[in-house]
Amino acid sequence: MHKLYARQLAKATKPSGEIDLGALGELVVSAYEQADRDRRRTDRSISLMAEELDRLNRGLEQLVDERTTALREREAKSQAQNLQFDAALNNMTQGLNMFDTAGRLVVSNARYLQMYGLSPDIVKPGCTVRDLVQQRIAAGTFFAVDPEKYIADLTTSMTKKNPVNATMELTDGRVITVISQPIADGGWVVTHEDITERRRAEKERDRSQELANTVIENVPVTIIVKDARDLRFVLINRAGEEFYGARRENMIGKTVHDLFSSTAADYITEQDKDLLRSGERRYFDEHPMAMPGNKTSIVTTTRLPIRDQNGEPRYLLTVIEDRTQRKRDEARIAHMTHHDPLTDLPNRAAFNECLEATVEQAALAGESFAVLSLDLDRFKEINDVFGHTVGDELLRQIARRLEVACEGAFLARLGGDEFNVITAVGPQPAAAEAISERISVALGKDIAIDGHPLHAGLTIGVSIYPNDGTDAESLVANADAALYHAKAEERGSIRFFEPDIDKRLREKRALQHDLRSAIARNELELYYQPQALIGGEITGFEALARWHHPSRGMISPDTFIPLAEESGVIVSLGEWILREACREAASWPRPLSIAINLSPMQFRHGDLPGLVHEVLLETGLTPGRLELEITEGVLVDDFARAVSLLRRLKNLGVRIAMDDFGTGYSSLSYLQSFPFDKIKIDQSFIAKLSQNSQSEAIIRAVIGLGHGLDLPVVAEGVETEEQLAFLSKEGCNEVQGFLIGRPKPIRNYGGLVGHKKTRSASVALAS
Ligand code: C2E
Ligand code: CA
Ligand code: CA
Repeated sequence: MHKLYARQLAKATKPSGEIDLGALGELVVSAYEQADRDRRRTDRSISLMAEELDRLNRGLEQLVDERTTALREREAKSQAQNLQFDAALNNMTQGLNMFDTAGRLVVSNARYLQMYGLSPDIVKPGCTVRDLVQQRIAAGTFFAVDPEKYIADLTTSMTKKNPVNATMELTDGRVITVISQPIADGGWVVTHEDITERRRAEKERDRSQELANTVIENVPVTIIVKDARDLRFVLINRAGEEFYGARRENMIGKTVHDLFSSTAADYITEQDKDLLRSGERRYFDEHPMAMPGNKTSIVTTTRLPIRDQNGEPRYLLTVIEDRTQRKRDEARIAHMTHHDPLTDLPNRAAFNECLEATVEQAALAGESFAVLSLDLDRFKEINDVFGHTVGDELLRQIARRLEVACEGAFLARLGGDEFNVITAVGPQPAAAEAISERISVALGKDIAIDGHPLHAGLTIGVSIYPNDGTDAESLVANADAALYHAKAEERGSIRFFEPDIDKRLREKRALQHDLRSAIARNELELYYQPQALIGGEITGFEALARWHHPSRGMISPDTFIPLAEESGVIVSLGEWILREACREAASWPRPLSIAINLSPMQFRHGDLPGLVHEVLLETGLTPGRLELEITEGVLVDDFARAVSLLRRLKNLGVRIAMDDFGTGYSSLSYLQSFPFDKIKIDQSFIAKLSQNSQSEAIIRAVIGLGHGLDLPVVAEGVETEEQLAFLSKEGCNEVQGFLIGRPKPIRNYGGLVGHKKTRSASVALAS
């Protein structure tokens, strides 16, 4: 209770303990009043307090607010910093570990885990270097080094605060650089960087560099690099050493003034400076270049400045290609393509070029010139007899003689023993005649090779521009035609082209062409001419070929047999004749003989004895009835082979007759070398019987020879009774000729061969 009230209450109480109500009332009133006053005072202070509290509160709130904001800001800031730190840490290209003083992991980044394939469960703050090493060994991603040594070295270095920088390889081939760096507070940071790619690129670059060096060293062009500032040599490749004939150690570091004459050096230096001023690449096409030792080379040069990063000329590159050898090669190739290697005379290509040019020139000048085709006589024979070495040497010596004789006219060897001449433009045929004459004289004298005196005659055909042709091709063709004609007529002669030679040649080619299909078209026929004993008895027939040409009518064998021989058709033609004649003869009731002419070509191709044997079997003709007529020509070419074939033929049982005896040169010697069955005296001797006594003597001698050798002698071409009488008197055994019977289709001689009821049989002998 309030003291005031306690005192007032005491006053209101009488010593008897009785309560003084008045005093009490007063007391109550005053207490009340007091209470009221107190209440009002309290109310006032409460509201003051509330105000104060409120104010305080507000201040506090503000304070709290401020504090909170600051806190939030700081938090945000640190969070951002943390994020940045994390981002930086985890986005590093290097793996990173940070260790504390005790060697425990403080922090590690994602790259580290990823680099070595490690799990974040194990690589976490607190783990040791050893833990990490073991983890990596387990993952197979530890370095190819001793792990214990690694741990020991690292720990020692970090304790001593020595930074360590090491590059190591993983077993998978990656190369890692590890940098361990002590930090101020005692721990250390380790970064791991994968430098595999960089290493590879470096190696690649080294290889490229090496390749470039190899190329530079080995290109066949001179490469020189000079320093742009002082023009001293800084690089010379091998070709450059060769080019200058100097070793690079004697050139590098020097200037041209140390190496070349002062004039040359001044010139080069001026050029270099000029190039550096212009700053442009320059190419100098083939030009002569003075070389050390007074030599001159033909070169091309490319020069260009090489700039540094700032665009300033740093080096001066010169590339020199030495064309000297190539020029020489080109000249040699050009010579080779235009010359015959054996005689070094111009070849066909050169001849054609010269001819084209001469035609043009003559056309412009309105003048004439001649083309000569030359062909050596007997060259093939010399080659065969003495061998190719002698043949080649002969050609070389002839070429030299021809060159002299041509007196500057264009002489070429077109191949084999063919030479051609083009005279200068000028009056013709005088020039052509003069050259031909000189050539004949030049080759008139024997040429001695290896001790053999060789004679090489020459036949010449000439064509003249513009009469015989206005273009190269026809001029050559016509000179060849004239040559061909000259050879056919007389070897060693000179012949000018005549238009009808050409016509004849063309006709000949056409006939040759037609002849190929003559058998197939059934245009060939055999005529048969009887052969008789001197007394008149018919002993057999000679088969003689005839060609019924569809447009030219009957063509004589004298014309078409040589054509067939030339084209080779004679082989199939001869086979047809043989088969046809044997088939015919086999059909005759009387066993008369059948004579067939063989061409030398038939001995050279195919198996003649085999063919005859086959035909005999096929036709059933008795071999003894077949007589094969051969001329000397069969034996001339390859005597041994011909004789062996003749022996095989004889072994079949057929007879061999020597035809046209007396016309060749060596008939007598051939008679000795092979046992012929018959000699046929050439009809020319019989024809001349009445005209000259030599024929008589020859015929007499041949008949005598036949008797001596025990060979029957047949006289061909007997046309008159006088001839027959002479032959009979001389003891000739057999005769053949118009007097006995002309060559005719066999049906005309049906009676003679034994066929019955043939109308012409009785007239045969009288025809
Ligand atoms: P050859 O073998 O000397 O033939 C004889 C030639 O003289 C035949 O000319 C014949 O018709 C002719 N003749 C025969 N009797 C007389 C006569 O009394 N007076 C005259 N002036 N001539 C007579 P053909 O048939 O023109 O044959 C010419 C040459 O053609 C033949 O001469 C022969 O070398 C060749 N020949 C003919 N047929 C063939 C053949 O089938 N094969 C071969 N390889 N050559 C043949
Ligand atoms: Ca004959
Ligand atoms: Ca004959």
